Amino acid sequence: MPSRKLEDLHPDLQPVCHEFLRRCAEAGLDILITCTWRSGAEQDALYAQGRTRPGARVTNARAGQSAHNHTIAGKPASRAFDIVPLQHGKAMWNAAFPAWSIAGQIGESLGLVWYGNPKARFHEMPHFELARGYQ
Ligand SMILES: [Zn+2]
Repeated sequence: MPSRKLEDLHPDLQPVCHEFLRRCAEAGLDILITCTWRSGAEQDALYAQGRTRPGARVTNARAGQSAHNHTIAGKPASRAFDIVPLQHGKAMWNAAFPAWSIAGQIGESLGLVWYGNPKARFHEMPHFELARGYQ
């Protein structure tokens, strides 16, 4: 199972993620973290989705290529986290749901790279990543 624990984030990303969640709550958003770190095997299973397995394509990254697979000294240190906004406890996957763009702006204001931005190279609404420059 991929991790949802904030402790599995890169040490530089952990405080940013906490602040992100705090600001989202302050803005009245109910945000669920769906993934922090995932293993190479889990990444490959995700890559197969929409290619050799049924489902929609959700990633262009193979094992080791995703920011979610990052480790430091062999320990999980994900450089990204994925979210979904909730409404009455229900996940709102529809990209038109207003909470997405509000959360995106909050993440970007904290210096994160949000893949839901229309200018993102690979479009992936739930994905927030530590900017380059962090090891
Ligand atoms: Zn992601």
